[in-house]
Amino acid sequence: MNPLPSISFWEQQWLKNTDILVIGSGIVGLQSARCMRLQWPHREVWVMDRAPVSLGASTRNAGFACFGSMGEILDDIERTDEQTAFALYEKRFHGLKQLLADYGETTIGYEKTGGYEVFKPEATTEYDYLAANIDRVNTTLKDIAGENPFQPKNTAKLGMKVLENGIFTPLEGMVQTHLLYKKVYDAAVAIGVRVLGGLTALPPEKLDSGKWRVRTHEGYKFDAQILVVCTNGYAAQLLPELEILPARGQVLVTSAIPGLAWRGLIHADKGYIYFRSLGTRILIGGGRNMDFEGETTPELNTTEAITQYLMNYLQEVVVHGEKFEITHQWAGTMGMHQNRTPIVQRLDAGLYACVRLGGMGVALSALVSRELAQLVKETR
Ligand SMILES: Cc1cc2nc3c(=O)[nH]c(=O)nc-3n(C[C@H](O)[C@H](O)[C@H](O)COP(=O)(O)OP(=O)(O)OC[C@H]3O[C@@H](n4cnc5c(N)ncnc54)[C@H](O)[C@@H]3O)c2cc1C
Repeated sequence: MNPLPSISFWEQQWLKNTDILVIGSGIVGLQSARCMRLQWPHREVWVMDRAPVSLGASTRNAGFACFGSMGEILDDIERTDEQTAFALYEKRFHGLKQLLADYGETTIGYEKTGGYEVFKPEATTEYDYLAANIDRVNTTLKDIAGENPFQPKNTAKLGMKVLENGIFTPLEGMVQTHLLYKKVYDAAVAIGVRVLGGLTALPPEKLDSGKWRVRTHEGYKFDAQILVVCTNGYAAQLLPELEILPARGQVLVTSAIPGLAWRGLIHADKGYIYFRSLGTRILIGGGRNMDFEGETTPELNTTEAITQYLMNYLQEVVVHGEKFEITHQWAGTMGMHQNRTPIVQRLDAGLYACVRLGGMGVALSALVSRELAQLVKETR
């Protein structure tokens, strides 16, 4: 391969200085940039990304506008405690409201379909455990959501090989991921945020002037008064002090299945399997719990083992008997931690991070971006 061309004097003059630099043009980086630009309309706010279009989770997710199923919430309580788990639910709930208020429902393809949690026929103990906790969880979450989020529901009409006993939440919905990304991108650019794709940031250096210097793999050099890292699952590559692990999520989309009896969102296996309708197609993702170690990676390739696991689940549980093909397949990267809470933090004078969005960052994104902008305002 040819070496990278040298940077011209003019390019370096243009790109040298900005007031605020955000690394990462996912939905969190773009919304953080937009919030800061709204706060300071006369400041230059730039966003850089290693890819021409974002390449992490925001353009590769499943489009669930959700807050956590019963199984996930109880799993979260076991990992942390009730207060932390319910606080996270609350953040997602208000975050989604904010997102819809900011961008509108139709423009992002939002449909409030509700979501089911289903159980394999042999998983009666798992269902009984969750069902026994519904009232307790509802009592707390009703104060947040204004109604009981969870109700037992007969899932026989879904036409799947699952227990008749399932759990339904009317509060969830789905978005069209590409429409949401486009809307978030357009809203940032419309108010003067400049987005530069194809620049891979190297770890930042603090200058004597107090500014932050970011060199890129391509040979550019940016100096900014305020630097915000929004690289989510890749954040520890730039800021190794952050407790965050990359978690690969693999996704498949089927061909049209004419007899599909259900529409909406479905959660299974404590959220480790999730699938939704896309017209008469199905999008299914998950299976990380089959190989936690192998899936703790920033690599974006798909693997035979997880593909097969998701295919088997589709064939045995979801669309048994119907013929279908896999038409699309990809992987994305989440930013994870045991307690699943996001990091919105000032790390040093002028240096901030807004990362670790976990598996439900769509709902969180509008809220954490505002928190970040407010934090910068108060502490810069
Ligand atoms: C398969 C999958 C399914 C998901 N499904 C859902 C769902 O249904 N609902 C939901 O709420 N959430 C879901 N999520 C999670 C959600 O998509 C994320 O939480 C959210 O998109 C995070 O946004 P972000 O902007 O923080 O990170 P990202 O979208 O990951 O953006 C980070 C950006 O940083 C860039 N970057 C990384 N390193 C560098 C560098 N050194 N220099 C420059 N740029 C860099 C990347 O290219 C990327 O564009 C899913 C995630 C995955 C992977």
